[in-house]
Amino acid sequence: IKEDKVIFEVKGLKKHFGGVKAVDGVDFNVKKGDIHVLIGPNGSGKTTVINVLSGIYTATDGHIKYRDQEITNLKPHLIVKMGAARTFQNIRLFPELSVIDNVMIGQHTRTKANLLNIIFNFKMRDEERKIRARAEEALAFVGFENYFEKVKNLSYGQQRMVEIARALATEPELLFLDEPAAGMNPEETQELVKLLKRMNELGITILLIEHDMHLVTQVADYVTVLDFGKKISEGSVGQVLSDPEVIKAYLGE
Ligand code: ADP
Repeated sequence: IKEDKVIFEVKGLKKHFGGVKAVDGVDFNVKKGDIHVLIGPNGSGKTTVINVLSGIYTATDGHIKYRDQEITNLKPHLIVKMGAARTFQNIRLFPELSVIDNVMIGQHTRTKANLLNIIFNFKMRDEERKIRARAEEALAFVGFENYFEKVKNLSYGQQRMVEIARALATEPELLFLDEPAAGMNPEETQELVKLLKRMNELGITILLIEHDMHLVTQVADYVTVLDFGKKISEGSVGQVLSDPEVIKAYLGE
């Protein structure tokens, strides 16, 4: 059941890099329980938006509210702690470490446990067991069984799934996914579609950047379209794809 409650609010968001107006006054709301997709031609500012929302970049101007709390320019680990996790367009895993270690590391930003504490503090051992259990649960959820394989030996699509598991293990309420289907083959993309729906059924709100319109059509509750750092359209997939402004923007690509 989709709710009408806004949990994430973006107002007048700007991010300029010198003279480059990557994001230039963007407004949109993400409703609780939605799969909200950000689309737009290459260079339209999608990744920059997600980078500002997740605290990687500071905003040049504008406001971001998460659960009615101002989070503009909050540090990334604090945003994760509030319940918003993310994955990256360029996979950021440790290739030499195992799958399970990579997923466990993702939670340390949330729990504040550092490796020294885990080794020397008895209380932390209990915390460590919980971290491990959450990591195993997240991997089982994405359908990944080979916990001890080194990440460097996995296919690109498998690495993307591990990244999603790492984000899931922080038990997010909101998930930012930056082109999760990039580099996936058609079978892996269909697995991803199912996974997105299952995560959404768990109650996780998803803000997704995606190029693959076939995927977008299958999952999107709502779509926001960017072009040259500005919002040019929003609505259902059907509405935005028949919007002349959107067609013009994609034809010009
Ligand atoms: P999209 O994700 O829609 O492809 P991006 O957000 O990656 O678009 O980029 C939007 C614009 O901002 C592009 O013109 C890009 O070159 C520029 N840009 C992105 N990141 C930086 C940066 N760190 N420094 C300078 N320019 C950037």
